[in-house]
Amino acid sequence: MADGSPRAPYAGDRDVAAAVAALASRLPDELRDLAGVAFDYRWSWTRDGAETFAAIDAERFARVNRNPVRLLRETPGTTLAAVAATPGMQARVRALANAVSGEGPYATGDVARPIAFFCAEFGVHASLPIYSGGLGVLAGDILKEASDRGLPMVGVGLLYRNGYFHQRLDPRGKQHEYWTDVDPEQLPTVLVTGDDGEPVTVTVPIRGENVVARVWRTDVGRVPLYLLDADDPRNSPLARFITGRLYEGNREIRLAQYALLGVGGMRALRALRIEPEVVHLNEGHPALATLELAHELTGDGRSFDDALAVARSRVVFTTHTPVPAGNETYAETELMAVLGDLVDDLGVGHDGLLRLARIDPDDADEPPGMTPLAIRTSRSTNGVSAVHGGVARAMWQPMFPGRALDDVPIGHVTNGVHLPTWMAPAMQSLLARHLGRDWLDHPDEPATWAGVDGIPDAELWAVRDELRARLVDCVRERSTRDRLARGEPLDYVAAAASTFEPSWLTVGFARRLATYKRLHLLSLDPARAVTLVRERLQFVLAGKAHPLDEDAKRVAESLFALKGEAGISGRVAFLEDYGMAIAAPLVAGCDVWLNVPRPPFEASGTSGMKAALNGGLNVSILDGWWAEAYDGGNGWAVDGGRSADRADRATDDDATRDLRDATSLLDILEDEIVPLFARRDGDDIPHDWLRRVKASLRTIGPRFCATRMLGDYERVVYGVPSLALG
Ligand SMILES: *Cc1c(COP(=O)(O)O)cnc(C)c1O
Repeated sequence: MADGSPRAPYAGDRDVAAAVAALASRLPDELRDLAGVAFDYRWSWTRDGAETFAAIDAERFARVNRNPVRLLRETPGTTLAAVAATPGMQARVRALANAVSGEGPYATGDVARPIAFFCAEFGVHASLPIYSGGLGVLAGDILKEASDRGLPMVGVGLLYRNGYFHQRLDPRGKQHEYWTDVDPEQLPTVLVTGDDGEPVTVTVPIRGENVVARVWRTDVGRVPLYLLDADDPRNSPLARFITGRLYEGNREIRLAQYALLGVGGMRALRALRIEPEVVHLNEGHPALATLELAHELTGDGRSFDDALAVARSRVVFTTHTPVPAGNETYAETELMAVLGDLVDDLGVGHDGLLRLARIDPDDADEPPGMTPLAIRTSRSTNGVSAVHGGVARAMWQPMFPGRALDDVPIGHVTNGVHLPTWMAPAMQSLLARHLGRDWLDHPDEPATWAGVDGIPDAELWAVRDELRARLVDCVRERSTRDRLARGEPLDYVAAAASTFEPSWLTVGFARRLATYKRLHLLSLDPARAVTLVRERLQFVLAGKAHPLDEDAKRVAESLFALKGEAGISGRVAFLEDYGMAIAAPLVAGCDVWLNVPRPPFEASGTSGMKAALNGGLNVSILDGWWAEAYDGGNGWAVDGGRSADRADRATDDDATRDLRDATSLLDILEDEIVPLFARRDGDDIPHDWLRRVKASLRTIGPRFCATRMLGDYERVVYGVPSLALG
């Protein structure tokens, strides 16, 4: 670590240092600093980070999911020696190590009293498979941004030994799921030990068993992420499986996960001697954390209710679910089977918990849920876009009897994305040239982006061409592999390798295949869709359906049914196993990013923000973030904006609405997008298209980056006092 690096001391520092030293000992002198870099995910958003590891052995780096710890451990010594001897390598390594360890001072808050950010999933990097989608990626982006801006924060989550499922499709488009083992010893994670040198453990009574969990730490810049792991030989096989799979299908196991995350997470913080200023519950899963915090405070003779009031003043809650069905509830018997001993242990009592976890505490017939519990036991609740804030107020109004809708105390902080993670290096370099070197210090100020209009079209277009070409390479390679693995005919396999065009208008649609995301809109009018792809246009699709969501799985099958149509196979690609590794080239390379959820189901959405940061244009329903972002000139609104009018649309049934939105989408693609992209002057550059791209960058960049989001959380939600430094 560079001298004077102002990192706060946190539990596990010694364990990280030992792991770094062990890894360094097998590296040649010139590469030794890479050991510390490998154990800090900050390399993944630092200039030349991925490139430096790829320079050691690009093939191997790709094979190990870009996990630099495995790369450095598994690359043969002779290869390492040869790389170390390449001219310039030592300087390159030193520059990277300095960049990764050399942050500025902590800007705000008290480093001894961090924000503790609790979430069931964290999407930090493709090599750490403990996330499923948007919620996790947002959580990862928040940790990264906190590190960048020097906001003291620690993350708390679970280390799933099998992560989220992987997806494989068969030739008919039917989804198959499989899980792979995650060995934390092979990840940039270290087991946290205590003063006695033994692993720190916490114990939580779950389903009649005292479940033991150890704590791993992985570093996201200067934010340590602590991950609980119940896969311990002291536990029963069932208890060991609690941290098996993310969003496990079995409801009791999910409840057990929430107990371990919330209560175990708080106990872990105490064992690690971390006293959080604020506990941030990201989604309802960790809601039991507040009860454990209250339990801690009953020590000096306080009643549980008094203690809960104090605990509540330190907890904030972000809800992400815009529909009642998304907020899981439980039968009382189910809840008590898992949490029975725990509620006694905590002192809240059976009835106490049930009352806290119901919308109406007195309604004994109402099933309890984690979201009401979180709302009731947090000092603040926020949704994740302006529209979603309103939806959440309406949804949870019954919890606040006598309050008018506008007075329901639920606000919003609109999501944003971590710019250095999601903006491709080529785009970052272009902007650095035109917006000034230090533009990344304050990307949330509109003035920072003013220079976008002055970027010569030829330069911007060259970057767009480069990003699209990279995506096309990636699609060709992946589709070939996917089609081979699926057992497709070899002619069809070969088509994948040749027919995607680097210069054609490329449209992306990648997200969870939930029915409400309506990927099927593309295939509602097959004849028109087929005509459309003859227009020098290509579609890249990706997304996983939840293993139990049969409707969503049928959507992929309906799309696959189209692949026999003439002209389709080379113009439409479905990339299997959507995750962060695929998302990065996709959001960077697509010219157009589609989002057509059924309102109001999209709480925010973030992938469109990532596309916009790379010069892609959004075509989206006016729901979630797009209702705030769309200004008439920075993209397109499906259904001409009428979708915002919920009262009007509430009268339509789903099929009517789907057909209308599908027609609107195809109209926009045919009448506006295809001609605008094709319109070129003598220089073969689409100047009118780029005018929109610039408007999109300038208006979306400052408002939907994580810098703006975390700034809002600091000011509005955390209320962290600024520290006057230097
Ligand atoms: C950004 C991102 C998401 C969120 O996408 P939305 O559909 O816009 O919510 C999901 N998965 C991955 C891998 C992402 O990077």
